[in-house]
Parts: sequence; C-alpha cells; structure tokens
Amino acid sequence: MKRSFDILIIGGGVAGMSAAIYAKRRGKNVAIIEKFALGGQVNTIPKIENFPSTISIDGVSLVQNFSKQIEGLGVEVIYDDIKKVDYEGEVKRVFGRKDEYCAKSVIIATGLTYVELGKNENEFLGRGVSYCAVCDAHFFRGKDVCVASKKGSGLKEALVLAEVCNHVSVLDSEDMSAYANVNKNKKIEVLSNVKIEKVVGKDVVEGVEVSILNADKSESDKSKIERERKVIQTDALFVALGKKPDKTVFGGVKVDSKGFVITNEKMQTSVSGVFAVGDVRSKELKQIVTACSDGAIAGQFA
Ligand SMILES: Cc1cc2nc3c(=O)[nH]c(=O)nc-3n(C[C@H](O)[C@H](O)[C@H](O)COP(=O)(O)OP(=O)(O)OC[C@H]3O[C@@H](n4cnc5c(N)ncnc54)[C@H](O)[C@@H]3O)c2cc1C
Repeated sequence: MKRSFDILIIGGGVAGMSAAIYAKRRGKNVAIIEKFALGGQVNTIPKIENFPSTISIDGVSLVQNFSKQIEGLGVEVIYDDIKKVDYEGEVKRVFGRKDEYCAKSVIIATGLTYVELGKNENEFLGRGVSYCAVCDAHFFRGKDVCVASKKGSGLKEALVLAEVCNHVSVLDSEDMSAYANVNKNKKIEVLSNVKIEKVVGKDVVEGVEVSILNADKSESDKSKIERERKVIQTDALFVALGKKPDKTVFGGVKVDSKGFVITNEKMQTSVSGVFAVGDVRSKELKQIVTACSDGAIAGQFA
C-alpha cells in the first residue's frame, strides 16, 4: 500500500522530531519514518548538561519529552527502514522494508550510523554483539568482553565497560603499544595489530576468531608478515569503529568530501523538495541543540 503525506521525515532523532513539531504546527500532513527507536543517539547519552533550559537530564528522559510533544501534536510515527528513494519527480518516493511512501517534500534526518566490521557480527546483534557500551554494558556485568577498535576508537567504550565487566580486551587493528604501556586500568587489556576474522558461537557470542600480526616481522618485510590465528573467549563483542553518514536515502543530493549532505540556510539540499537536518548535514557543530535548530528550520520551509 502506498501512503501519501505533505512531508516525510526519514529518521526520528531529535532533528527529525523537531522538524515534525514545526511542520505539524503549520498544519502539514507529516510523518516520521524511524527504523529503530525515536530519539536516535540521544537514547545513549547518560547525562546531558548543555541543552538549554534543562540543567541536567539523561538522554532517555529527554527523548520521552520529545515523544510526548509529537504525540500530543498528532504526528504519525511509522516504524520502517527506508532502503531506496526516488527524488526525481515533483512527488518524492520513498521505499521501506514494509511499505512505499510519497510526499511533496522529504527531510533527511538519518544522523550517523555505526561503522560495521563487515564480518558476520550482525548475525549476533542483540545476542552478544552491540554497538553501544553505554546502552548494553549492564547486560554483561561481571563478564569478559571484547571491543573492536581502530586507532584507539574503542578506548572510551572500554572505560565504560570496565565499570561493570570483569575484563575488557580492546582488539585494535593498529599498533597501540604506546597506549598499552600507560594504561592503568587493570581490567582493560589493549592488544595491538589484531584483525577480527569472525564472531563464533552457537546461539550467543562465545568468542572472536582473530589473527594477530607478528610484530617482529612487520617492520622488516611486509610481504612475509605472519599472523597468528586464535579464538579469544568472550561473552560479548562491542564494535566501536566510529560513525559515518549512511548514503542509502541520499538519492543524489550533493555531499561534502566526508560524505555529509550540503544544504543552504533553509536546510534545502541540491535537489528541489529535499531537505537535510542534524548530524547527517555538513556542519561544524553536531549537537542536540543544533540538530533541533536544523529541524525547526526545515519544518518551517519544507
Ligand atoms: C555518546 C554520545 C554523547 C553525546 N553527548 C551529547 C551531549 O552531551 N550534548 C549534545 O548536545 N549532544 C551530544 N551528542 C550528540 C547528539 O546526540 C547528536 O548531535 C544528535 O543526537 C543528532 O541527532 P540527529 O537527529 O541528527 O541524529 P540521530 O540521533 O543519529 O538520529 C537519526 C535517526 O534516524 C534513524 N534512521 C537512520 N537511517 C534510517 C533509515 N534508513 N530509515 C529510517 N530511519 C533511519 C536512526 O535510527 C535514528 O533514530 C552525543 C552523542 C553521542 C553518541
């Protein structure tokens, strides 16, 4: 079934929800399409102290406030994962896993997405593989866990995990010996030159198969580098390789050298009728307050 709206907002983070508030108050028929949960990244923040008017608030409570506000306004929230778009005609078409949607305007509010390992990790998502230590560390209280890291990207996650887990192995793909030598947290072990080959386990994560570069040979002859293969037993793998914009719903809009969508001051992209807001947009300061501001502007002009 194809569903029609005046404005479709792809992504229900704070940018998308702010856009919905402004668009709905203009009397537009507006829907947010969200693939996971309203609030996006904000759900993972334990304490927010720089959102004006709230001295200190946890992310989940802030999201609840937003949700109540859009619900009160009657904004429709559709849970679907948008996989394809067609922005060529006057009417924009958006294709989800469940349905097809169309609208005169589309607001891209898809934020940032986690960089994947590109192995079999997603088969174990929710069964020992996680992309968010703040969200899921408590499931592994007293357990041994691993963090997939690149150039130290997993060190912050490791500190969060060490608060509740028994042992945290940071598996970094680069040489992290300088950090390993100064690491004072006894629960955290930093391993260098580790390539994760696959996640192993029957129903849940039981280990990760890795290949580790032989450090002695790496300096001398790159063509003769030896990798030792082994399985590290673990109860969980936290993938902490950073975040990037996901191009799936960009449909040909112009992006900057890092892949973020370029807009003008009205949040219009290079494609007429298509707007972009929040972290997905090319800008200097990616914060809640700037995401809300982008959303308000797009909601007003879309
Ligand atoms: C750990 C952490 C701490 C932070 N601390 C602060 C802080 O203290 N103060 C502050 O101001 N900012 C903070 N930030 C930054 C802030 O969270 C972000 O700038 C802001 O949340 C961006 O909002 P957004 O709506 O643009 O994107 P997101 O929050 O990323 O939301 C995008 C939404 O789009 C959905 N989506 C993506 N693709 C699709 C698709 N194809 N179909 C349907 N839905 C889709 C996603 O599921 C997600 O819900 C923090 C961020 C993190 C990660």
